[in-house]
Amino acid sequence: MPIATTDPATGEVRRTYDEMPSDRVDAAIAAADRGFTALRRTPVAQRARWMAAAADLLDAERDDIARVMTTEMGKTYAAAKAEAAKCATACRYYADNAERFLADEPADAAAVGARRALVRYQPIGPVLAVMPWNFPLWQVIRFAAPALMAGNTGLLKHASNVPQTALWLGELFGRAGFPEGAFGTLLVGSSAVERILTDPRVRAATLTGSEPAGRSIAAIAGRELKKTVLELGGSDPFVVMPSADLDRAAEVATTARCQNNGQSCIAAKRFVVHADVFDAFSERFVDRMAALRVGDPMDERTDVGPLATERGRDEVAAQVRDAVERGARLLCGGEVPDRPGWWYPPTVVTDLTPRMRMWGEEVFGPVAGLYRVSSYDEAVEVANGTSFGLGANAWTRDPEEQERFATDLDAGSVFVNGMTTSFPELPFGGVRNSGYGRELSALGMREFCNVKTVWVG
Ligand code: NAP
Repeated sequence: MPIATTDPATGEVRRTYDEMPSDRVDAAIAAADRGFTALRRTPVAQRARWMAAAADLLDAERDDIARVMTTEMGKTYAAAKAEAAKCATACRYYADNAERFLADEPADAAAVGARRALVRYQPIGPVLAVMPWNFPLWQVIRFAAPALMAGNTGLLKHASNVPQTALWLGELFGRAGFPEGAFGTLLVGSSAVERILTDPRVRAATLTGSEPAGRSIAAIAGRELKKTVLELGGSDPFVVMPSADLDRAAEVATTARCQNNGQSCIAAKRFVVHADVFDAFSERFVDRMAALRVGDPMDERTDVGPLATERGRDEVAAQVRDAVERGARLLCGGEVPDRPGWWYPPTVVTDLTPRMRMWGEEVFGPVAGLYRVSSYDEAVEVANGTSFGLGANAWTRDPEEQERFATDLDAGSVFVNGMTTSFPELPFGGVRNSGYGRELSALGMREFCNVKTVWVG
């Protein structure tokens, strides 16, 4: 993929960039290595002041960077502004809490025959961050804020279709006061990743992206014995049981499926509905999906903008076509509009079977699959019936069912009667082919720490 800004609403190439030559990549790695030596020695309180300054920059420049995001990947301007604001919140969260998360943890010295025993959290070095375009600020900040607060440095290889956002991020932390080399952007394509990751100065990698990219990075890192955190795809279930508040469930289902123009890893993608309420729920849900306004992402009345890339839009269209050709039924949407840009309408498909691509694959666009089940056990079986396990949603007012879903759904998170989302305070990540490791909370910060045992006799 060329490194370029292409407006998904029109298909117009706005700006192209040359890939960074290898000597500049080398210089950036060297700077990250030197920056690590400097950053690890700074007191956490100093890092916290810089991180708070980064939050202030995010707030002050929110509208401008939001416009860049909308132009580069098509999310609505309102969503882009909310994303920038969430990033500022996460920076402040780590500025306020890092000292506590990194504090020495005393252990039972007598039990291990020591005068003193403790666990100390220390940074490990420059970390390569390979990031996707769908939340082009948030995915990066949720890695960078805890990593830099722990004293690590970061090298960002962002998705090739968001270069302007990537360059802005590459300067953010330096402008906030962090030392040179603390965080930088490498404007390179994915073929450059192997060389960067095999460089001995780069100590670990984090990837948010697709399953194939995850397999590739994990294989390279495995060979090199480097730690990885992988945040990969999902095909999250949204289970609706007979006791659910159907109006609220249908409202949240619509947002959950179409947020970010349907391109969120934790979007609800498969709607697993009990037969007793299937017709009542699907009527409400389809009405809401069909009523969404598709249009100019800069217009504040727009609910759903274009998909980010032509290839992504064509993939979604092909998955729906495959399902319909094999007997699935369209309840709304399903037609690619005849206009420039990468558009796809909110779509609901039912009567899906395992022979259809949509059954097991992630659909990265505003397309919902609707499944009818007749019991709790069947709901869990269908919900768990893909290779993914990122987030899961269950709607029920029955306390016993709430408990059972929380245990039985195979996912990194289970949200009951509310939309799956992320908070700085709670760990975020997946199981199975959705990846491993956790971001956010204290756990996210410790993924890239040396958890050092100290024993003093
Ligand atoms: P993608 O193709 O995997 O791209 C993500 C990043 O990985 C980009 O920077 C890309 O670079 C790079 N990349 C791609 N193939 C690579 C390879 N073989 N080796 C090294 N780097 C590689 O993913 P996408 O299609 O843009 O993003 C959507 C996917 O990300 C979906 O599956 C979605 O569910 C997942 N996602 C997961 C989370 C989560 O938190 N779990 C969050 C958001 C998105 P180029 O752009 O240069 O190709």
